[in-house]
Amino acid sequence: MMSGEKPSVAIIGGGISGLVCAARLSQLGITHSTVFDTGKRAPGGRCSSRFISIEGKLHVFDHAVQFFSVSDPRFAKIVSFLHNKGAVKVWSGKIVRLKLGQKASEVKNLQAFIGTRGMQSVPECLSGLVHLEGNKWVSNVHWEPSMKKWKVDDHGWYDYLVIAHNGKCAARLMADAGAPMIHNLLKVKFGPVLLPKTNIMQLCSLWVLIFALPRKIEVDFDGAFVEHSDISWIGNNTSKYNTENQMQCWTIISTKTFGANHKVPQEFIPPSKEKEVICLLLNGFAEITGIKRDLVAPCFTKVQLWGAANPLNILQDEECVFQASHNVGICGDWLVSPSVEGAAISGLALAEVISRHVNGERRDVGLKKGLEPVETEAIGAFPTNKSLFFKPAK
Ligand SMILES: Cc1cc2nc3c(=O)[nH]c(=O)nc-3n(C[C@H](O)[C@H](O)[C@H](O)COP(=O)(O)OP(=O)(O)OC[C@H]3O[C@@H](n4cnc5c(N)ncnc54)[C@H](O)[C@@H]3O)c2cc1C
Repeated sequence: MMSGEKPSVAIIGGGISGLVCAARLSQLGITHSTVFDTGKRAPGGRCSSRFISIEGKLHVFDHAVQFFSVSDPRFAKIVSFLHNKGAVKVWSGKIVRLKLGQKASEVKNLQAFIGTRGMQSVPECLSGLVHLEGNKWVSNVHWEPSMKKWKVDDHGWYDYLVIAHNGKCAARLMADAGAPMIHNLLKVKFGPVLLPKTNIMQLCSLWVLIFALPRKIEVDFDGAFVEHSDISWIGNNTSKYNTENQMQCWTIISTKTFGANHKVPQEFIPPSKEKEVICLLLNGFAEITGIKRDLVAPCFTKVQLWGAANPLNILQDEECVFQASHNVGICGDWLVSPSVEGAAISGLALAEVISRHVNGERRDVGLKKGLEPVETEAIGAFPTNKSLFFKPAK
């Protein structure tokens, strides 16, 4: 970078971590950053919603994040901003725990936030603060040491590169990019149970079923953490978004074990597997809610497999990764906690590290740290209180 030149940053991934990173960079005076995201309709990654027209009416379904909670004051500031912009609200719905054959118990002391028009409102609002190149799949990045710059596909040269996604794609993207230490950290394994003493990122897979019932069924909750072999969460999108509606729109999230037992290529789900998963999850729904199976007769169903759904381990002690010699960093939920809050905190932290680097600090962050198990109960069950969900301060 020539003196006086403004640093440019390419951020690969427009989920919460990438968007927050770009927005914070801009606040810190680094305004030439571009977020590249594959999202065809919108950015947001795993924090997104589907809007589906059924019988001529548009219905919102949250098909990954169901709600989020706040425990870190830095994230509280972001949520307050989103609230002022009308993008989030408190969810006053009743959230319970459901165990087979037992009475539902209400989850107390949980302040849950949701988007105002589906969880999608959160990334939508954040994307208004950044320069976003949507519907862009970045397939090649390369570090040129003589220029100290990153080439990003045919989008040009950037002073900094941020990897704001994980999974096989991130590992592949960085394999021959010229930053082997970063590539090493992005290597990934999959499975429902964390391998003992592993220092490799491990992700689980989850199935999500969204479905609409033509008529309401009576249950005494709006969202439920579920203890069942197939299901970890069920949520009522209709009551959540107070939609005036005859229909009832539901989301079911599977357990990690179910995700692993029924894993197929997520882009090419065989129709027979789709049918099987829908049937098993609807059976589970009827069983756990005590609603007769023949009343659970949807007029719409759609399944999705999140192959790289949630991390089972996270980075020790640091909130992001940065290699000072190569102007490259990583942010994402898997560095802090598998949640919207974790992703946001990681994006914030990396923006601040890059800003300090621009101002002359030459310090690596997180490069040589190990990974530690996520301290939550089942993945697919989300924050119920601070101690359960947030990575404890050391
Ligand atoms: C089923 C499910 C339910 C969940 N429920 C909750 C919940 O209720 N509460 C909660 O707090 N958390 C929940 N989570 C976790 C939460 O979704 C994540 O922690 C958070 O959204 C991760 O954000 P991120 O920015 O780290 O990654 P992502 O959201 O994965 O963002 C990465 C982005 O990068 C893009 N990308 C990838 N490769 C490329 C490329 N080569 N070029 C361009 N773009 C690329 C992807 O398309 C994606 O948009 C849930 C997750 C799942 C899967």
